[in-house]
Amino acid sequence: MTTSETSLFAVRRAGEVPAPSLPPFGQFIGGAFVASGSASAVDVENPATEEILMQVPAGSVEDVDAAVRAAVAAKAAWAAKTPKDRSLVLLRVADIIEANRGLLEALESANTGKPSAVAEDDISSAIDTFRFSAGAARAFTAPGAGDYAENHTSVILREPVGVVGVITPWNYPLLMAAWKIGPILAAGNTMVLKPSEQTPLSTLKLAELIADEVPAGVLNIVTGSGSVVGNRISEHPDVDLVAITGSVGSGQKVAASAAATVKRVHLELGGKAPVVVFDDADLEAAAKGVRSAGFWNGGQECGSACRVLVHESVAEKFTELLVREVREISVGAPGAGDDVEIGSMISGAHYKRVLAALEDIRKDGLTIAVGGNAMEGPGYFIEPTVVTGVPAGAAITRTEIFGPVVSVETFSTDEEAITRANETVYGLAASVWTTNSARSLSAPRRLDFGTVWVNSHLVIANEMPWGGFKGSGYGRDLSVYALEDFSRTKHVMYNHG
Ligand code: NAD
Repeated sequence: MTTSETSLFAVRRAGEVPAPSLPPFGQFIGGAFVASGSASAVDVENPATEEILMQVPAGSVEDVDAAVRAAVAAKAAWAAKTPKDRSLVLLRVADIIEANRGLLEALESANTGKPSAVAEDDISSAIDTFRFSAGAARAFTAPGAGDYAENHTSVILREPVGVVGVITPWNYPLLMAAWKIGPILAAGNTMVLKPSEQTPLSTLKLAELIADEVPAGVLNIVTGSGSVVGNRISEHPDVDLVAITGSVGSGQKVAASAAATVKRVHLELGGKAPVVVFDDADLEAAAKGVRSAGFWNGGQECGSACRVLVHESVAEKFTELLVREVREISVGAPGAGDDVEIGSMISGAHYKRVLAALEDIRKDGLTIAVGGNAMEGPGYFIEPTVVTGVPAGAAITRTEIFGPVVSVETFSTDEEAITRANETVYGLAASVWTTNSARSLSAPRRLDFGTVWVNSHLVIANEMPWGGFKGSGYGRDLSVYALEDFSRTKHVMYNHG
């Protein structure tokens, strides 16, 4: 596909951007950066410029084993700390991120191509995740003791699971790491984390910044591929739980590897969020909502508002409003301005995947109402795109494109809207747009998704759980439910008869 000659969109370029502050080279094990057992390294690219930022070790099985040994060695002392003491460590981590937010935002943007507004939001949210986790560590209680059998008093002990393995994706590198590190450490576990091979820099930088605050071995970072490092974390006999945020395929592989040691699995996988716009909806608000939530982070977002189902009587009006909104979206490199909404795709490989999906959309005879093209390089930029004339069951309604592409299909009855919205293997998130109070109450109950917004989309609060149903996985991030997922209950019964 070539760049459109008559495109509405052009990539805004930044002037001179200062070089980001890079992390040390090495694996972060036992509280320090150490050499990898593997001699090979992988390039880490800036996808907005196609320049190589640095290399990181292509970690080995031996690196994971060393990190797990460090996490096992640190386990008893960290678990024995009072919630107050763990909480104080997490509060200091939050303060350190806040003190270094400019540096972390610049690094995150350089490694992902995301605009400043998104990087700023990521870092603010990561700070809040640590502060929430610090508070939750102290407020997290089990049911009161009591006698449930004659002459026996039952007590519930809430314990850490032990060593938790974590595998994170590339779309929100530091934030997805924070979503795991906060509650996992708050619940008293130690951990080994593998960032995405494409975006390890902010996680390594965080380790460097907090190395003196978090006791050695409590948090270990091993870079490398999913098939080597991720797989070893998943199968390691001394890892007690493995948590992955990533695609459905990777989640399936992790769960299969984890099965051999019967370890607990926590899966935050893909999504294809339906946006149901009823005939009584505030159409302008819905169109603005899709502009923001469908194109946030370039649509590289598991809860992205990427699949609109709109009532046939208002479809024309809604589509006109949405296209008008999307035509105004500015595309640009990090540093090109605070009003840039969309940056580059994460990598050349992903850019090609999104362009191939657009090619399929054309072959299927669907209408591209706006966008649809690759943009001029360097960098992996794609125009914000709206696809219309989408029939029920079309491939675009079922597959996660994970790019700046929103599809619009129509429905005639409420029943049809709900049935079609649920016709997906995913179950992460959905939204409903209506001014009718009965619909606003009934539709969320009938939608099979872990989060349902009414007249909103993609607003997230640290106090509330995030996670999916069906193919989107199981387990919850954020909220006290995450602390629950990363801990275990033990029943102790005292005979006082
Ligand atoms: P991905 O599945 O390609 O990679 C995610 C991580 O899994 C990476 O660190 C990768 O190295 C690792 N991995 C790959 N194969 C593995 C294996 N065999 N064993 C162990 N680890 C393995 O996903 P991605 O492309 O980095 O991220 C995009 C995907 O993540 C999308 O599907 C998106 O919806 C999903 N996601 C979900 C959420 C959520 O909260 N549910 C949040 C962000 C992203």
